[in-house]
Amino acid sequence: MIGCANGCTVARRHLTGCADPGECPGCQPRPALAGVVCIGCRAELGRLLADAPLIYAWLAEHVGRGGSRPPDAMPHAGQVDPPAVIRAEVVDLMNDYRDTLGRYAQDMAHRLRAHPVVIVRRDVNTDTALVAASARWLRNNCPRMSELDAAGGEGGEFPPAVALLAALLDLARTAHRVAPWRPILRRCVGVPCPECHMAALVVHGGEMDVSCQECGLTMTPEVYAVWTVAAAAVLS
Ligand SMILES: [Zn+2]
Ligand SMILES: [Zn+2]
Ligand SMILES: [Zn+2]
Repeated sequence: MIGCANGCTVARRHLTGCADPGECPGCQPRPALAGVVCIGCRAELGRLLADAPLIYAWLAEHVGRGGSRPPDAMPHAGQVDPPAVIRAEVVDLMNDYRDTLGRYAQDMAHRLRAHPVVIVRRDVNTDTALVAASARWLRNNCPRMSELDAAGGEGGEFPPAVALLAALLDLARTAHRVAPWRPILRRCVGVPCPECHMAALVVHGGEMDVSCQECGLTMTPEVYAVWTVAAAAVLS
């Protein structure tokens, strides 16, 4: 069996050579069933690509916000809003999103000899449209990414699925930092994350999905319900 190229393991499952099954959170690799990565990593990549245009739009909305106050917080009586300033870190991050998605989409289209992302005249088409088009193209071509993964990256790079997943996770985390959004609605106490095994599962306001603050994993309520039962059985 070939393990996930991201090094994913199965919680509380151990290799025969595991040094300390009592302390080890799980060291048995997850099988690479989607190219070089596991099913969970491929699903996560799809979600991050689906989220990318939304996060980009959110960042665009917060470029001009000033101060350290969370965007949704109400000002105290008599408090004066700091003057709106263009936040360079938000602009930089937006450019990173645009460049990362654009570069991956163009590069993959080229290497797969597929129809490239359609970008009609940059002066007419906004960056927002470019981000959306690139993310959509990458999502649609996720299944074909396995071909490139198997071939490996050019010049000894990571396989595209691994590299793109890492890049998008990094962008999403930075976005959380520079423009915090989605206040936490509730914490899932007593249920560890199935991916990183940390007690860091939360539900964000306005969402049904359960997500992990440590590793970025997202689960539907259905999957979370199944996991809760499984986790309780394992932990008892
Ligand atoms: Zn182990
Ligand atoms: Zn994986
Ligand atoms: Zn996690």
